[in-house]
Amino acid sequence: MDLQEYPPMTDHIPSLAVVIPCYNEEEMLPKTLATMLTLREQMIARGKISPDSKIYLVDDGSKDKTWDILSDAANSNTAIVGVKLSRNKGHQNALYAGLCVTTEDITVSIDADLQDDPQNIEAMVDEYLKGHDVVYGVRSARDTDTFFKRFTAEGYYHLMKKMGVDLVFNHADFRLMSRRALEALKEYGESNLFLRGVVREVGFPSSVVEYERQAREAGESKYPLKKMLSFAWKGITAFSTAPLRMITLLGLLSGFASFTLIAWVLVIRFFTDNATPGWASVLLPLLFIGSVQLLCLGIIGEYLSKIYEEVKRRPKFHISDIARKDN
Ligand code: UDP
Ligand code: MG
Repeated sequence: MDLQEYPPMTDHIPSLAVVIPCYNEEEMLPKTLATMLTLREQMIARGKISPDSKIYLVDDGSKDKTWDILSDAANSNTAIVGVKLSRNKGHQNALYAGLCVTTEDITVSIDADLQDDPQNIEAMVDEYLKGHDVVYGVRSARDTDTFFKRFTAEGYYHLMKKMGVDLVFNHADFRLMSRRALEALKEYGESNLFLRGVVREVGFPSSVVEYERQAREAGESKYPLKKMLSFAWKGITAFSTAPLRMITLLGLLSGFASFTLIAWVLVIRFFTDNATPGWASVLLPLLFIGSVQLLCLGIIGEYLSKIYEEVKRRPKFHISDIARKDN
């Protein structure tokens, strides 16, 4: 990558692209659009971002009126670009698709539900102007999340850390990236996208902006428990081989247990009179070893399936339509 291509970060007013993935967000969108447009105007007026800054909204195969709202807005306002994916590809892919369409100096990714207060974008741009390529939005308070979500999310960050995965604690996908950081991100070919992990891999000078997370104002979470679990698992298998190491550990443990059991059977056989060991001592190790083997095979299978997906190099998204108004 030739660094000369990228403009210096500190001595000009940057153009900003805000990227918002949207899945069935018709209830939220009018408010989101209004908030983002106002914020954009304010930041331009304050000389923080250039007037060609844009808001990119990615419709991730919504089944409601999301695209109608988006394309109408995009066709009547040059500041808005609507991107429609060919089908629902999931939050991470929709976000990535949006990032790939942008051409601006900096990008900020944010959810459509405004749970992460957009007012913090200005502080992020300030951090960029100080020379940081990546600025992570970090939730300082999660009071508005349910106890369950808070507990599982924070437990997850701790678990990932234990397994040696470098994540920013309590950072989701509210994040600023410079053009060179984004171009570097695009060089990562993996199809199992776990952006908050990959961005950490990319590196470059980074900084943090703390904020309090709000409650979702309209619509419901598009991340039900099942999706959350699958996302968490994706993060683990994409970034850590700790589960594989666990197999060795389990193997050692089960080996030790069977050894003890065998010794016990031998003692009964040779040193006592009640010589016939019961069916339990035959059945127990069988069941035990069987279950351990199954578990191990399962984990190996998980990794194999990931390799399988990566090897296929499937494209992460297809854009079926773009709505924008030319100047
Ligand atoms: N989203 C998406 N595709 C999906 C699911 C969600 O683009 O398949 C978007 C959604 O519209 C929102 C963001 O991803 O802008 C985060 O989703 P949500 O707020 O429902 O997640 P939560 O905050 O409950 O974790
Ligand atoms: Mg949300």
